[in-house]
Amino acid sequence: MPNMKFNLRIISLSLILFYSVSNYSQHNYPENYFQNPLDLKLVLAATFGELRTNHFHAGIDIKTQKREGFNVLAAADGYVSRIKIQHWGYGKALYIKHPNGYTTVYAHLQKFSPEIEKYVKQNQYNKESYTIQLFPKANQLLVKKGETIAYSGNTGGSTAPHLHFEIRDSKTAKIINPLLFGIEVADTKKPNIISAYVYPLDDFAQINQSNIKQKLNITLQSNGDLIADKIYVDGTIGFGVKAFDRLNDAMNKNGIYKLELFVNNEKIYQHRLETFSFAEGKYVNLLVDYPHHFKKRERIQKCFIVPHNKLSIYNDVINNGNIFIQDGLNYNIKIVASDIKGNNTTLTIPVQGKEQKIVFNKKNNKTPYYFKREIFNKVTLKNVTLAIPKYSLYEDLYFDFSLNKGIVKVHDKSIPLDKSFTLSFNVSEYPKAEQKKLFIGRVNSKGYVTSYSSTKRKENKLYTVTRTLGKYKLASDTKKPTITPKNFKNGQWLTNYRFLKVKIKDNLTGIKSYKATIDGKWILMEYEPKTGTLTYDFNDSKYSSLSKISKHILKIVVSDYVNNTNTYIATFYRKK
Ligand SMILES: [Zn+2]
Repeated sequence: MPNMKFNLRIISLSLILFYSVSNYSQHNYPENYFQNPLDLKLVLAATFGELRTNHFHAGIDIKTQKREGFNVLAAADGYVSRIKIQHWGYGKALYIKHPNGYTTVYAHLQKFSPEIEKYVKQNQYNKESYTIQLFPKANQLLVKKGETIAYSGNTGGSTAPHLHFEIRDSKTAKIINPLLFGIEVADTKKPNIISAYVYPLDDFAQINQSNIKQKLNITLQSNGDLIADKIYVDGTIGFGVKAFDRLNDAMNKNGIYKLELFVNNEKIYQHRLETFSFAEGKYVNLLVDYPHHFKKRERIQKCFIVPHNKLSIYNDVINNGNIFIQDGLNYNIKIVASDIKGNNTTLTIPVQGKEQKIVFNKKNNKTPYYFKREIFNKVTLKNVTLAIPKYSLYEDLYFDFSLNKGIVKVHDKSIPLDKSFTLSFNVSEYPKAEQKKLFIGRVNSKGYVTSYSSTKRKENKLYTVTRTLGKYKLASDTKKPTITPKNFKNGQWLTNYRFLKVKIKDNLTGIKSYKATIDGKWILMEYEPKTGTLTYDFNDSKYSSLSKISKHILKIVVSDYVNNTNTYIATFYRKK
């Protein structure tokens, strides 16, 4: 239907006038106000804004020579405004509010400096909890620029020792790239563009006779720039690249700072990782080619903006980065990837407009459930109900929902969701005693439960609220967690011991809670979930006043998420 095609093109041309994004805002950040938070040469394991699943990396990861315990220094004068300790995420984290309107954040810490550590432990003993969140008052814990505030570690979601460092705007809580504050990192290397793709963006678009995304054939030039083989295109297209940046002193593949696209030397797309809010983190799933990441574990960043993407990192974007290619015309496309030091790599793509027959066609996998973005979608199959709120899907689609031998397929992880869905199971068929041990588990391709999905109970229903698509099933956990002493035995003299270490473990649902006492008084045992270790420091006995008698009873109670509970009791002796 040539007429319809022609009309749509008129529409897409007129959109250029209305969709020109312009929120350009290059602030002037104070230089030399903040110092390096470590007494080490700055070498980064990760840059600001690196693409992760569901979020951007919010700070810089500073390498600590694969070790813990380096002095962490206050980046500038200020006061400790917040301390948060959690099992995952940032682990032990400290926030300093500075008088110039910024807050610095230091995460994955091993421990705090003695004064701060004392303040934290007193609060942990008062609240009888290792995980804690504290907001000290402005005059309580003052710090000077360069003062040791903590020691670098590997707590929380960290997988290797490093310091995660952030700078935030204290008022808006937006995170800002710390390297914009004059903190020096050596980088004289150009970013690398590994691969590039071209996407058809309207119903009639084709690239080399195909209406499926195409990988470009690219060749490295002697100066490090790249050139792609000419492509023959008809209709509206967009581009994407996989790129990384390497700094001078490390092999890590860090994120790039800026990505631009030019058509015949006119800039039509730019994103730059200067600042963003935590709330917009989920739109990283729309910046990257999400299905491609699911299939190939590679993050292609698009040089065009798809609907519902509310990221604020764009400027100078024309027509959302969509490029309309006309039959018979030649186009010169340039994609430029830059690091924050201005080193850049250019990929040149020659494009020729050519109307041809489409030979390769995309398939449409139809299912019984066509879900629309703008409505609340709810389906029940036997005892299982799936409810997806309005605007959770980014587009209308055939949703893959099925129930087979107790395994529920909730589509697959190839699409991102904006909001969580609810999956509920009616369990009234199960005997009452059994119901209590049931939970909703995520299932792998072989049908085995791989992890616990946070399960809530309401009357005869179990439900989970999650953004993770994939397979689920009802499973049962009847085994208690195990509790094993690591460095002592029951009945032992422990006078010269500094630490008590205990290993706790649970199959299936995992550790929900743990509580340890000595002679009936709560003691702080720090829990490191990566190794399943609980650690008590006898130097903390000042907070719980260990009794003067030499005989002591240690009691540890551990529960999993379906409340299977185990208790460990040991006697030990210690000279006062
Ligand atoms: Zn980090």
